[in-house]
Amino acid sequence: MISYEIIEHGKPLQRVIKDTPRPKGTEVLVRITRSGVCHSDLHIWDGYFDLGAGKRFYVKERGCVPPFTMGHEPFGVVEALGPRAKGVRVGQKRIVYPWIGCGKCPVCRDGIDNYCMQQRFLGVMRPGAYSTHVLVPHPRYLVDAGGVDEAFAATLACSGLTAYSAIGKLPELNARDWVAVLGCGGLGLIAISILKAKGIRNVIGCDVDESKLSAAKKLGARQTLDTRSPDAAQKLQALAGGSLAAAIDFVGMPATHAVAYPALRKGGRYILCGLYGGEIALALPPIAQRAVAVMGSYVGNLQELKEVVALAKKGKLKPTPVTTRAAGEVNSILEELKAGKVLGRVVLDLEHAT
Ligand SMILES: [Zn+2]
Ligand SMILES: [Zn+2]
Repeated sequence: MISYEIIEHGKPLQRVIKDTPRPKGTEVLVRITRSGVCHSDLHIWDGYFDLGAGKRFYVKERGCVPPFTMGHEPFGVVEALGPRAKGVRVGQKRIVYPWIGCGKCPVCRDGIDNYCMQQRFLGVMRPGAYSTHVLVPHPRYLVDAGGVDEAFAATLACSGLTAYSAIGKLPELNARDWVAVLGCGGLGLIAISILKAKGIRNVIGCDVDESKLSAAKKLGARQTLDTRSPDAAQKLQALAGGSLAAAIDFVGMPATHAVAYPALRKGGRYILCGLYGGEIALALPPIAQRAVAVMGSYVGNLQELKEVVALAKKGKLKPTPVTTRAAGEVNSILEELKAGKVLGRVVLDLEHAT
């Protein structure tokens, strides 16, 4: 199999040829055809997350030690089954749910693998889909997306799922309420698409890039806001008519928090998904007085992936911009993503990797 691996953090990925693994027990070997390139891959590539004030969380502390294969938006074809892998056949095309837990603990038994303490996340702790083959521990992590464009289907495993799970954490909305989406990259755009599919029309897309704002508008955001302006928080509050019920932050930096959090109405929620990094200081009394919530949302569970895929299969999700490119271009794609030059999602073509 061919993999594009981190040999040294921050240095170009290298093409590596290895023996293709054989599935054992309940394992399934999936031949990857499409693999989304996510913004969080940039942090794994760099080797750390920025915790603010010069503090860092190093990914090697959670087992991501080079040589390492990233890629947590896998789509492919079942190629081989372990002797105890049931319910799936060779040749079937599937999305691979990458947020896999230990499979044994109470959290995993409740179906919330993404909260497991012994995670086996593909492309984060285990070899991922920047590769022609991925070993999946159990067939239950394979989701049928029949009829959905394969490159778009791949992006549902992280960007679609993360947005869907964050939207599931919105407070109850009334007709005058608005929802802000901060960061109209791959996640923000699919979030706007999902909000619309769920009948939530009062959406404000926020970004610092005109092309991303116009993509947000095309997907159904009723308002957009360029957050570079110094009074962006007041503008956001005004656009929402003083009724901003929630802000979903797909960037996650002090600057986006500074726009979204003060603009919330009483009882509003600041839902943080983005991992850009940094730290904030929050005055405590207003959290109680304004009855606001600051909450995190991290990827999503298998059931949520099935639900967002069901929306896509019914044709309810307006497709976000997805560009499929040769897997061999992965290094320039990562550089473009870092420079903010990617509109929507880039998906690697591993079907034709040579
Ligand atoms: Zn991701
Ligand atoms: Zn577990």
